[in-house]
Amino acid sequence: MNKLSFKRHRRLRSTASIRALVSETKLTTDDLIYPLFIIEGEQIKQEVASMPGVYQLSIDYLVTEIAELIDLGIKAVMLFGIPKEKDPEGSGAYCHQGIVQRAIRQIKDLAPELLVISDTCLCEYTSHGHCGIVDKFGVINDSSLILYVKAAISQAQAGADIIAPSNMMDGCVAAIRKGLDDAGFLDVPIMSYSVKYASAFYGPFREAANSSPQFGNRLSYQMDPANRLEALREVESDIEEGTDLIIVKPALAYLDIMREIRNKINTPLVAYNVSGEYTMIKAAAINGWIDEQAIVLEQMIAMKRAGADLIITYFAKDLAKWLKKRRDHL
Ligand SMILES: [Zn+2]
Repeated sequence: MNKLSFKRHRRLRSTASIRALVSETKLTTDDLIYPLFIIEGEQIKQEVASMPGVYQLSIDYLVTEIAELIDLGIKAVMLFGIPKEKDPEGSGAYCHQGIVQRAIRQIKDLAPELLVISDTCLCEYTSHGHCGIVDKFGVINDSSLILYVKAAISQAQAGADIIAPSNMMDGCVAAIRKGLDDAGFLDVPIMSYSVKYASAFYGPFREAANSSPQFGNRLSYQMDPANRLEALREVESDIEEGTDLIIVKPALAYLDIMREIRNKINTPLVAYNVSGEYTMIKAAAINGWIDEQAIVLEQMIAMKRAGADLIITYFAKDLAKWLKKRRDHL
């Protein structure tokens, strides 16, 4: 009888130690960026109904929040502002005393080493909820650029370490880069939402940031989920225009896009694990239907395996605790 010939792949899976040794993908707390929603007012810590464990916080709550993040070893936050008043031009986005500008100053006072990434868009500040200024045909691209530049400069002046334009207007990165350079912020990097799909997974965020469009939708500026090559064109444009990091948003339904970008481009890649992705896990976990920790860790590894260097996630605090427990346990 002929002897069977085959490879013994199980040799490298036989113990926890050897599995750790040959593990191809690592996740650490250094990879994580935690989003924060900052709201006008005092003594406000309001849980977002569709996102258990995620809060709208007033600036006075940043003292305890930032201390907790530092204690957990989280290195970066991404800020979203919820102003008291909105107008058609979103002027709260580029006001010296704006909610995000004050929050940035407060965080840099509390913890200068914590990286503050400032989302740069108008949708949280416009009365119509769109990402730029509008006429009856929709968002006006080039006039909106002027306002993003103002917002980016005011965020950099407040102390933001990284500017993250999320508006999906053409030429946005070029305009912001020039604006920052002219204002003396040559060393402030841009983390562009280069690939942002028009996604139903953003639903809970719009409750968290009070930023739902009051009419129409965002299909004329965010990308069609059916498109892959368009993502590469967006990334190439943003790199030419001067982005330092690239965000793909959402994450889990777009892992193929991340892998394709990683195969072609060597710029740092960031996955945005969005609100809907968070909400689905939380809802199932609350019902006891899934093992939350195991599922979240598996999803994070999937994003890194797809090519993400960094992950923006509402699970960052949970992950920091789980990863610490795992380290202590070894
Ligand atoms: Zn927006």
